[in-house]
Amino acid sequence: MPTIKRQLEPVPFTAVAFNDTFWAPRIEVNRTVTIPHVYQQCEATGCISAFDLNFQRPVPTPIVLIFGDSDPAKWLEAASYSLATHPDRELEALIDRVADKIIRAQQTDGYLNTHFTVTQPDMRWRNLRDWHEMYCAGHLIEAAVAHYQATGKRELLDAVCRYADHIDAAFGREPGKKRGYCGHPEIELALIKLYHATNNVRYLKLASYFVDERGAQPHYFDLEARERGDDPANFWAKTYEYCQAQVPVREQSKVVGHAVRAMYLLSAVTDLAHENDDPSLLATADRLWDNLLTRRMYLTGGIGPSRHNEGFTADYDLPDETAYAETCATIGLIQWNQRLLQFAGDSLYADVIERGLYNGFLSSVSLEGSTFFYENPLASVGSHHRQSWFECPCCPPNIARTLASLGQYFYSTGVHDVWVHHYAQGSVQLKVAGHEVRLRQITNYPWDGDVKIEVDLHRPQTLTLHLRVPGWCEHWQLRINGAPATDLKPPVNGYLAIEREWRMGDVVDYSMAMSVQTVWAHPAVRYLEGRVALQRGPIVYCLEGVDHDGIILDRIAIDPKQVLAGGWRVEHRADLLDGVNILRGAAQVVDDAGWEGTLYRHTEPSSKEIDVTAIPYYAWDNRAPGEMRVWLRAVR
Ligand SMILES: [Zn+2]
Repeated sequence: MPTIKRQLEPVPFTAVAFNDTFWAPRIEVNRTVTIPHVYQQCEATGCISAFDLNFQRPVPTPIVLIFGDSDPAKWLEAASYSLATHPDRELEALIDRVADKIIRAQQTDGYLNTHFTVTQPDMRWRNLRDWHEMYCAGHLIEAAVAHYQATGKRELLDAVCRYADHIDAAFGREPGKKRGYCGHPEIELALIKLYHATNNVRYLKLASYFVDERGAQPHYFDLEARERGDDPANFWAKTYEYCQAQVPVREQSKVVGHAVRAMYLLSAVTDLAHENDDPSLLATADRLWDNLLTRRMYLTGGIGPSRHNEGFTADYDLPDETAYAETCATIGLIQWNQRLLQFAGDSLYADVIERGLYNGFLSSVSLEGSTFFYENPLASVGSHHRQSWFECPCCPPNIARTLASLGQYFYSTGVHDVWVHHYAQGSVQLKVAGHEVRLRQITNYPWDGDVKIEVDLHRPQTLTLHLRVPGWCEHWQLRINGAPATDLKPPVNGYLAIEREWRMGDVVDYSMAMSVQTVWAHPAVRYLEGRVALQRGPIVYCLEGVDHDGIILDRIAIDPKQVLAGGWRVEHRADLLDGVNILRGAAQVVDDAGWEGTLYRHTEPSSKEIDVTAIPYYAWDNRAPGEMRVWLRAVR
């Protein structure tokens, strides 16, 4: 039977350095503003001091307080990543203090959750459907693995191992154990990380059990509800789809329910396909990916249109103005595609990562780094703004950990191969076939598509350099040491493969043509019929009210033919929004003269031509508040 093992090994973020004008300043803002901000908010809202176990809470407790342990855990993970690339004694001392608090909150039996230790100790593990205990455990595990890798200190790792052992003793198929699993997937992918950090195969088996048992009949959430004396039908979310537990995942045909939960579960499913060499899990991931990508994802990499279930609805249901598109869901999408990418190095997955990173993810944090979007709509009448914190604050620490470990998405290695998935000025230190290889990218990406790659190695080495041809890129050119690469084969899996004996100082000049492109949505997306969006390279653009002098943006229509004929100018504006390329072109705007006192009339309104300015979607809501719109009316 053919193996389905991953052929690629992602290069850790600690080996990747950015010195560009796009990501490097953002990683620095994340380190100096966002990570301290998230800490202060966790402190101010009492979820760090909660680990001192001397708080008082009412019962019933609001759900957001019940899963409060997860946010300091995500902060600890983000801060540990930051420490790993940027040594900082003060931060390390703070991290160690928080880690120590967490360790001291652990009970003698290994249990580690502040709410169910202090407020409702008799309700431990009694409502896995709603109460997020294992979700919190998962984030503590991810934090502990990051802390151990950044500092080499084992205490927190040992503590979460005792907690994982406690969970392993309580849940499973063996006699005397409960056949439960968490309503919010997260612990599964965390246990796989813990398995890699400790080599303890029991954690891998526990993760496999949680994924396999989920959705099985008789349904565990029904059983535990009856045990609590509750009616299982009295479930506020109405359906276990919300918890990713309506059927076993292998029987699922569409991506459904709560979008973050779906992404965290599918990340674990994809990990387990590799770990357990399980084609049924990879087929499941492929099937659900196909449904998501062809019917359920926004142009920005946002997913989950509905606020009602924080997630998915029906195929092609992608309203722009009311899009929920939670920040954590796009982060989960990026994490999942990162796992899929490593199997065969198919650029489709890197395309999704790029779409998410430069658009739906990046929109979630303000340029100054201290306010955040929870929801990332693609149009706004001007009332949607970033906030410094949320009652349910899952997104800000998730943003912080993603930016602090951003380099993890950029490169992979194989036996005699290097994959360059993404482009940004900076360098990477690799080991291929036992030899050190250093690559340096010189580029102004994402503002232009020219990338120079300098190869630095101690002695000549034969390896294949795979360069991604992004999905948006229609033409490219390649030169090696100044000469056109004439014998280059067409891309395989979306990557140009350059196999040769590389020598110190070899230079690849890769040029991806980057024009202003129009994007249309499938006609079944009824909200977007007759509308067009603008994209250049990986960046999706939008119009913002502040650039258009009070004109209602929905009255503006652009001519797609004019865009394709090169009628739109690209201008680099170093002074605007921390440095962006803007797009400028002509548009038609409906004239509202002569409508006074009239709601309807028999004559068509006239239009006049105006100049419009499009800015990168990610940068909206960083100036005067106002309207925003990605999908524009098209002149046809
Ligand atoms: Zn969130």
